[in-house]
Amino acid sequence: MILVSACLLGHNCKYNGGSNDNAAVHTFLEGKDWVCFCPERASGLPAPRLPSEIRGGRVVSKAGDDVTREFAQGAEKALAFCRAHGVTRAVLKARSPSCGVHAVYDGTFTGRVIPGMGVTAKLLAENGIELLDEEDIEKGAW
Ligand code: SF4
Repeated sequence: MILVSACLLGHNCKYNGGSNDNAAVHTFLEGKDWVCFCPERASGLPAPRLPSEIRGGRVVSKAGDDVTREFAQGAEKALAFCRAHGVTRAVLKARSPSCGVHAVYDGTFTGRVIPGMGVTAKLLAENGIELLDEEDIEKGAW
């Protein structure tokens, strides 16, 4: 079973109220068993919402609000969802403070990217779920 970031499948759960609908991910999932999930929406955050980034081990919104607890709750809910559905692999949205697999924005809201993982991605990886992002899928991984 594969978990997919809901925004990659056209769900309007992204911070700006839109999605990251991705044709390569749709194609990849054809004939496979998958479920989708948005940890930020599951934590109760609205869509649209202010963008957030990871800074110094916390998660902060662009207005400076500390949303670390919400992001942690979203990650825990994602892990519980994965366990309930027998998820072993996940395709997550690149660079998201929740879902980023290889890199995240650096906390300055300037578009700079640094190596690292989103809060949910990190928790899923720590619990043995194999992760890729949509850019890996576009390059033909798996
Ligand atoms: Fe997409 Fe993940 Fe952000 Fe939800 S938390 S909008 S699934 S990148």
